[in-house]
Amino acid sequence: MPNDALPRPLPDGCALVTGASRGIGAAVARDLAGTHRPVVVGYRQDETGAKQTVAAIQESGGTAFAFRADVTDPAAVEELFTAAEEAYGPVLVLVNNAGIRSDQVFAAMDDSDWHPVLDTNLSAVYRTMRRALSGMSRARFGRIVNMGSVLGRQSLPGVANYAAAKAGLEGLTRSVAVEVARRGITVNALAPGLVETDLVRDVAFLERAARTAIPVRRAAQPAEIAACVRFLTSPEAGYVTGTTLTVDGGLSAAAFVPQVPRD
Ligand code: NDP
Repeated sequence: MPNDALPRPLPDGCALVTGASRGIGAAVARDLAGTHRPVVVGYRQDETGAKQTVAAIQESGGTAFAFRADVTDPAAVEELFTAAEEAYGPVLVLVNNAGIRSDQVFAAMDDSDWHPVLDTNLSAVYRTMRRALSGMSRARFGRIVNMGSVLGRQSLPGVANYAAAKAGLEGLTRSVAVEVARRGITVNALAPGLVETDLVRDVAFLERAARTAIPVRRAAQPAEIAACVRFLTSPEAGYVTGTTLTVDGGLSAAAFVPQVPRD
C-alpha cells in the first residue's frame, strides 16, 4: 500500500554516518550504500579505515566519499555538511554513530573522563541534528538515527559518563522527534547491547558476560545493528519516531539467564 505521507518522488540527497571508519559505523555506511543513496563516511583520525569503508561501498556499486571531521569541533561539523551537500545534495539520512568510552569509577572520575564522552556522545548529536534539520525540512523528508546503548538504561560500575550521555541522547531524540514529526522527519535512537568492535575489545569480562548474561549467548555483529538502522532510515519507517529500538540479544528482557549446559 503506498504511504501517502511520503513526498513523491523521494527527494535526492545523501546519507551521512559519523564514526564510519570502523565498527558499527562502517557496517552502517556499507549497508546504507545498498539503499541507493550516496553515503558520506565521517571519521576522526582513522583515514585508512575510512578509505576501506569507501572502497567496500564502491566495489559493491555504491557511491561514497570519506571526510575527516571531529564531531566535537563545530567548525569541522560545518565543513562535513558543506562537503556532503556540495557533492550529493542535502543530508536526508543522518546516523549519529561516533562514540567513545572513558571508563572510570565515579569517585575517581574527573573532567578529562567526563567532558570528551559527553561532548562526543551527546553534544555532537545536538550539533549535527541542528545542522541537518534545515535541509530535511525543505525536503519534507528526513531520517535520523542516534546510536544509544543499553547503558543508557541499565548500568555497570565505571560508566557514569557514558551512561549519562546515552540516557541524555534518548531524551534528546524524543524531544526533537516530537518537534519535527509534522515535517516528514523521523528521529529515533538505537540501543545496542554488546557488539563485537574495537570499543569493547579491552573489556575482559564482557566475553564471559556474553556467554552467560545474554540470552542469545553471543555478542552482536556490526552488520546486525546496521540492518536495524536500515529499517529505521527507510521510507517505510515513517510512522516510527521518538522511540528507541533495543538490539541486545534479549539482555534487557531477561531477569536472569538459566545456565543450561547444552540447549
Ligand atoms: P568503535 O570504537 O569501533 O568506532 C568508533 C567510531 O567513532 C570510529 O569510527 C571513530 O573514528 C569514531 N569517532 C570517535 N570519536 C569521534 C569524534 N570525536 N569525531 C568523529 N568520529 C569519532 O566503536 P563502535 O563501532 O563499537 O561504536 C559505535 C557506536 O555504537 C558508539 O556510539 C557506541 O557508543 C555505540 N555502542 C557500541 C556498543 C558496542 O558494544 N560496541 C554497544 C552499545 C553502543 P576514528 O576511527 O577515526 O577514531
